[in-house]
Amino acid sequence: MKKSGLLIAMMFLFAFSTSCKTAQKAVAAKTDSEKTSKKKPKFKSYSKVIPTDAITDDGLFKTHQVEEDFFYEIPNNMLEKDMLWVTRIAQIPSNLGGGYMNAGSKTNQQVVAWERFQNKILLKIKSYSEVALDSTAAIGNSVKVNNYEPIMYAFDIEAFSSDSTAVVINVTKFLSTDVPSISGLGSRLRKQYKVRSLDKDRSFINSVKSFPENIEVKQDFTFTAAEPPSNSSVGSISMQVNQSMILLPEVPMQPRLFDSRVGFFTVDQIDYSSKALKADEKTYIRRWRLEPKDPEAYARGELVEPIKPIIYYLDPGTPENLKEYIKQGIEDWQKPFETAGFKNAIIARDAPTPEEDPEFSPEDIRYSVVRYVASTTRNAVGPSVSDPRSGEIIESDIIWYHNHLRSYRNRYLLETGAANPSARTLDTDTEEMGEMMRQVIAHEVGHALGFPHNMAASFAYNVEDYRDGTFTQENGIAASLMDYARYNYIAQPGDENIRFVRQMGPYDHYAANWGGYRVIPEATSPEEEVATLNSWIMEKAGDPVYKFGRQSSRFDPQSQTESIGNDPIKASTYGMKNLKYVAQNLPLWTSNQTDNYDDLQELYGELLGVYSRYAGHVVTNVGGVNEDLKKHHKQELFIVR
Ligand SMILES: [Zn+2]
Repeated sequence: MKKSGLLIAMMFLFAFSTSCKTAQKAVAAKTDSEKTSKKKPKFKSYSKVIPTDAITDDGLFKTHQVEEDFFYEIPNNMLEKDMLWVTRIAQIPSNLGGGYMNAGSKTNQQVVAWERFQNKILLKIKSYSEVALDSTAAIGNSVKVNNYEPIMYAFDIEAFSSDSTAVVINVTKFLSTDVPSISGLGSRLRKQYKVRSLDKDRSFINSVKSFPENIEVKQDFTFTAAEPPSNSSVGSISMQVNQSMILLPEVPMQPRLFDSRVGFFTVDQIDYSSKALKADEKTYIRRWRLEPKDPEAYARGELVEPIKPIIYYLDPGTPENLKEYIKQGIEDWQKPFETAGFKNAIIARDAPTPEEDPEFSPEDIRYSVVRYVASTTRNAVGPSVSDPRSGEIIESDIIWYHNHLRSYRNRYLLETGAANPSARTLDTDTEEMGEMMRQVIAHEVGHALGFPHNMAASFAYNVEDYRDGTFTQENGIAASLMDYARYNYIAQPGDENIRFVRQMGPYDHYAANWGGYRVIPEATSPEEEVATLNSWIMEKAGDPVYKFGRQSSRFDPQSQTESIGNDPIKASTYGMKNLKYVAQNLPLWTSNQTDNYDDLQELYGELLGVYSRYAGHVVTNVGGVNEDLKKHHKQELFIVR
């Protein structure tokens, strides 16, 4: 049985700050005085620090390589600007994190700012959990002093650019030593593998690249470890870590307030300037910034392209024969976006070849990528990175584990084999496998668009409807693709023209429209949107097709995972009847493919798992509680699979 690959992401508290600081200090004046005083030349001349043969990369900051040293030349106007810092593992030793971490796994995300203090540059970690949203409120000062921002690192200013508009710092030590807050190896794994320390002799800065909006650093790090996850005789763990630093938008996107009746991933903040006589907690949904190219046409109700569409690149390592299904899965979301008024809002593309773009890298935070991971893990995940001030999703990498298709093949055989002759084989038809893969990718992309699981979506349909060809072809097997409703296990032998595999449903269109992808132009603040948003919900209230059910409601018979239909007892009775038929025929359906019993053993084991799941769906009804979410109910935790 497939065990859950849980990527549990705590939603942190974040907020928006407009603390008014005396911005750039008079750097120019200072340098001039340094030049004239001549007493103690604290700073070297620019040409001494950055000689003409330095390797320079221009972008957000200029970066320079001088022999083995790296320098950042930070323009004064980039000081005190909010930047998002994302730490990921770019190359990973096998079996690190028990198989659920992979190339591309994010290990930390934080907002940072570079600030000058006297002759130093400080890299500060910014907190967005607690602020005064009203920048004129006096309490803003109190919030600041009670949330002093930690300093991640301090650098001496080495030199100034010739026109004094930028400071030069040496980042070599910072990027080649073990800095805990940006480490690829968290404390839990350090404990597990008995990591002693970073081995300086085997650790290097691999590359530093500057792009217009971001700086990407790759570090090759080796830690000494008593019990490494693989290659234990070496006694160490080597990994490549990618550090992305991206400038956050000057003006954060206008956030949309969360409403628990429609499922969304969220960011939270506490507002101390609220007039509600208490610190006010605000929860915003996470969504991409889609703005109509032609706002007037949009207002008239025409389909309009967004200024910046969401683009997903395919991993350069994707097998050729699977590419079309992955692209379909990504672009399937175009339809729900059309419901929200946008055309061509999401686009799939092949990764550029090295000739087309020699600097393309899947870790570059400007690119969202469907990563294809050569790993024996059977899973797929859809995490994303968002602006903590507004919930704007900035980038996401969907991760597909190579062996995931095998679990889909097995369950297709077990759960639909009785009613579906084409599933009765280990060698499932390529197109049918492709269709399953397409739906998994679309589901994971759904997570990356802001949608959590909606476990009530499969409770929207009558059990008997699953035996109706026309109904299933039209409506799929759940009102949303974001449910754990994978296969139609209710349809019985002899039922005709049945849809067995999941597909997008009406709830996905509704959620895409509600969830911020429908622009409300007349609203100039999140609060002004509330009445309209509420009316959209009330229009559909009471219709099970548009109901959201939390994954965490394990006590609720309506929100069960891996179940379909609005009567679990009836549904499981049908499912078990099918399973008995499958159990009797398994040897016959598989023996022509194998000369041993390995596959049969694997399938029998999984069959028992399916059987006990069907039984579990019935058990939940005993003492179960039906949950109907009202407006304010926080969703603190989500699980992505
Ligand atoms: Zn999922």
